[in-house]
Amino acid sequence: MGDAKDVETSSVITVTNPATEEIITSYEAHTEADIHDVVHKLKMGQKAWRETDLKDRSHFITNFREILERQSEVCAEVQTAETGKPIDQSKGEINATRNRIDYFLKESPSILEPMVLRKTTHGSEKISRDPLGTIANISAWNYPYFIGTNVIIPALLTGNQVVYKPSEWCLNTGIKIVEMFWEAGIPKDVLDIVIGGSAQGSALINTPIDGLFFTGSHGTGQKILYSSREKMIPIQLELGGKDAVYVTENCDLTDAITQILHGIFYNNGQGCCSVERLYLHDNIYQDFVDGLLHELNQLKIGDPKQTGTYFGPLTRKAQGDVLIEQINDALKKGAQLLAGGKKIDGTGYFFEPTVLAKANHQMSVMKEESFGPIVGIQQVRDDQEAIALMNDSHYGLTAAVFCSDETRGKHLLKHLDTGTAYLNCCDRVSPHLPWSGRRGSGMGATLGKDGISCFTRPKSWHMRRVISQSLRK
Ligand code: NAD
Repeated sequence: MGDAKDVETSSVITVTNPATEEIITSYEAHTEADIHDVVHKLKMGQKAWRETDLKDRSHFITNFREILERQSEVCAEVQTAETGKPIDQSKGEINATRNRIDYFLKESPSILEPMVLRKTTHGSEKISRDPLGTIANISAWNYPYFIGTNVIIPALLTGNQVVYKPSEWCLNTGIKIVEMFWEAGIPKDVLDIVIGGSAQGSALINTPIDGLFFTGSHGTGQKILYSSREKMIPIQLELGGKDAVYVTENCDLTDAITQILHGIFYNNGQGCCSVERLYLHDNIYQDFVDGLLHELNQLKIGDPKQTGTYFGPLTRKAQGDVLIEQINDALKKGAQLLAGGKKIDGTGYFFEPTVLAKANHQMSVMKEESFGPIVGIQQVRDDQEAIALMNDSHYGLTAAVFCSDETRGKHLLKHLDTGTAYLNCCDRVSPHLPWSGRRGSGMGATLGKDGISCFTRPKSWHMRRVISQSLRK
């Protein structure tokens, strides 16, 4: 995946605007000693926070929600400047984050409520849930509000401390998020930040953390799993995807084109669940492709600060080279370029939205995560062929089917080997449902009830009642 900022050899991290290539800010990266100090401080604060009443913890999170709402304009501007995400999409993410907060606030009490499972004259058996302790949250840059708060908020509500390492590609946003939590009343010995890149992420894993929640690429996920193999702590990995969509011959084509267009290209295709592979039934192939290209032409590329811009620059310059490699590989193996295909000349890391037809599974564009505005299209004869191709991936995050016959649609969804399956929609996340990848897409789940209880450990209570001899008589 693209490049990594080389912080092993430099203690300064610069944040660059990918649209203008101007440096926005520079930060001194944390040293190993700093990181150990942060974790030590959080561990010292552990007892007080876990004994704080859930109502008080919820109060701080409600404050955070209000601050986020009040400051949403400036938060969106900060994010757009450093990631190139179009301003409308930055605002959309921040607004939708508030719905997730509402979900966590509503559901946490029921997760933490002790459950009596059995009661007899001899006693009872119950389960309570304890926090894990000090959680490390190592995070990606593409949806920093979603990814950050998916971990920070349920972890804090369930009584954990969090050490947050935002991505070096969205550092201003990461710092802003933490500052808003502090302003909301979350103590600094309950939530703190590590500033840095891969070296600081590695150093964080070497501290005595009690849980590790990572969002990022498959490659980094594997490294993290390996380097933390001797730690007996819960580890959760939310990794990449190569998400597939099958459009059957029996669907509302206009609606499918709209849904899939945004599924591919929203956030410049830089989404873990962006649509990257398209399987079109022979009977609708040409109509779908014509409609998709027509709609794509209506989307504006340009200054991400402007309302109405749909495509900003790629966040990372080097990802453009990954896309070019995939395009060249596909063209060499017989793909047909229907749109785009290259970097846009001039200032900024802009890339033409790209559509490749006649793609097949010999091409890297159908196998490896692209993480950019590019899609490969393959024609299929029937459902069986579509399902076999959709499941032919070492990733397993999401997959979608467009079909007006619900019975057939449900049957197809049942056979998809992914953590999430969509009917007539795609590139969608709900706070009510667990978000989990299979195989190369990771392990564990955020969101839903699973995404709250994963920050706790069960404690089983065996309560035997002793009936004294005198009472027995
Ligand atoms: P990345 O793997 O390059 O970096 C992620 C984080 O890990 C960063 O904070 C980085 O500094 C840190 N890091 C890098 N090397 C490390 C190491 N050796 N030890 C510890 N930490 C290290 O990923 P990225 O480019 O930030 O994010 C894009 C990837 O994230 C894509 O693959 C995307 O699909 C995935 N993603 C997945 C989800 C999901 O929910 N499944 C959500 C968003 C993004």
